[in-house]
Amino acid sequence: MRYTAVLFDLFDTLVRFDRERMPEIEVSGRRVRSSAGLLHALLRDHAPTVGLEACYEAGLESWREAERLRAIDHREVSAPARFRHFFRRLGLDEAALPPGLGQALIDAHRGALGRAADFPAHHGPLLRRLAARYRLAVVSNFDYTPTALDILERAGVTELFRAIVVSDAVGWRKPRREIFDEALGRLGARAADALFVGDRPDIDVAGALAVGMDAAWLNPERAPLPAAVAAPTFEIRDLAELAAILEP
Ligand SMILES: [Mg+2]
Repeated sequence: MRYTAVLFDLFDTLVRFDRERMPEIEVSGRRVRSSAGLLHALLRDHAPTVGLEACYEAGLESWREAERLRAIDHREVSAPARFRHFFRRLGLDEAALPPGLGQALIDAHRGALGRAADFPAHHGPLLRRLAARYRLAVVSNFDYTPTALDILERAGVTELFRAIVVSDAVGWRKPRREIFDEALGRLGARAADALFVGDRPDIDVAGALAVGMDAAWLNPERAPLPAAVAAPTFEIRDLAELAAILEP
């Protein structure tokens, strides 16, 4: 068999993020999908001057700032760091708030995201068959490992993966080699014996190829390959096509 290990990206590969499943709120006369209503409900009693709109804007701003920092060198900005920025934006001193409130906000946000992740029904049987033949791992760029674990648990597939590696725990995001190396190390697999499956050419394909893995690009929209990215080993429209590659 050509591979001993298969590693998967999480969002838009194993699960699809469905924004329509996020709570709907009204901000400045607009309907938006956001966890800000949940955060506001938790904050309201302790910071009565903070309105829903301010919560929404601070959430957005903290996300933008985290994305700005991540783009510099692919270092992950964890959820606790992002929420410290959120409190600062609201002019709140986190130390003066009740202990555990910051964690409660992170958990509320985590819950909303977890419920918005859709696990396609045909992915379960496929992963189960692959787990019988290959060592499987998840390698995800995400700011909070418990959210990724929730999503896999809800999908009923956690036990199929020998390693679940999320960037907040590693400190580095794909395409940095550190996070791929961590996953391969935990699988006890060599890069040359591993296939990486992901939807982002610049992150998943480029990162995996750079460490010496083969890469399957999940490209359902038939997007053109960016000029800067080397061609993936395989290109697929749906995860189901892995059967032809991995179960000859
Ligand atoms: Mg992805």
